[in-house]
Amino acid sequence: MKRLFPYLLLLALVSEVWAEVLPPLPQTQVVKLNDHVYALLGPLELPTAENRGYMVNSAVILGEKGVILVDTGFSHEIGEHLKQAVKTITNKPVTHIINTHDHGDHVLGNNAFPGATIISSEQCKSVMEKTGYEWIGILEQTTGRTYPNTKPVVAGKGYAPGVHKQVMIDGVNLTLWVPPGSHTATDMLVYLPQDRILISGDVLENQLMPSFRDANVKNWIGTLQKIGTMQISNIIPGHGPLMQQADVKQMLNRMQTFYAGVEAGYKQGLTDGEIRKQLDLTEWKKLKYFDEFIGLDVNRTYLEVEAANF
Ligand SMILES: [Zn+2]
Repeated sequence: MKRLFPYLLLLALVSEVWAEVLPPLPQTQVVKLNDHVYALLGPLELPTAENRGYMVNSAVILGEKGVILVDTGFSHEIGEHLKQAVKTITNKPVTHIINTHDHGDHVLGNNAFPGATIISSEQCKSVMEKTGYEWIGILEQTTGRTYPNTKPVVAGKGYAPGVHKQVMIDGVNLTLWVPPGSHTATDMLVYLPQDRILISGDVLENQLMPSFRDANVKNWIGTLQKIGTMQISNIIPGHGPLMQQADVKQMLNRMQTFYAGVEAGYKQGLTDGEIRKQLDLTEWKKLKYFDEFIGLDVNRTYLEVEAANF
């Protein structure tokens, strides 16, 4: 036993180290839209032990000296993973980050880019300050791990609601648009007028059930109507494959019918549970994670309708 002891100790140490070696995160699908805009598409999933919260789409815009990265993932680790994906495109460093809204899956990778200038809506800054650690808790609960390196880092510059501002960042012309709170009260969309590309955050999600957790459904419908009037050749949505105007129209129709259905039910004096049973959800059932979100989405819309009719 005495002679065996050093080996056992070594084995214990090795397995300790072993436990910390994690399998790689799911691959990022890099899609080139033109010579200076790329989509980094993440898995169309909810957070799991396997994906460790990697589920978001990001966008890469090449500037003169650096890279503008839109959305940074759910953790420091995912931010690093995205940094590697950027390296497959360019040697330029990430100098600017734009956050499309406060939800953890989009912003908690910010601290993997120390020194980068972070831009978001004003509301995104203030909400992230309050709920950043709550989102880390959600990540830890859903993936069964801790994330000691992940810390919420908020934007230095925030833009007020209603802003539709042309800015020049590192030689790139961008329109920053802060619509009336839609998917969340913290939304910011990024439009590249020369390229006719929209980076929408979760105001647009493709093939995925949207969450109305923090939404204003009526405003959201208005924002989708506005998007419908824009010159757009490609959309990088918050989740799922690239979208076109035809997909926006589908999402708009789905949301309008849904809101109208909930409102009609409310006016008949039905509860949200009863309304859910009489809604035509055929189009919604085609979306991934329908069962996980439908109850919440009917309930949130019901509360919104109730408040509007009070
Ligand atoms: Zn999201």
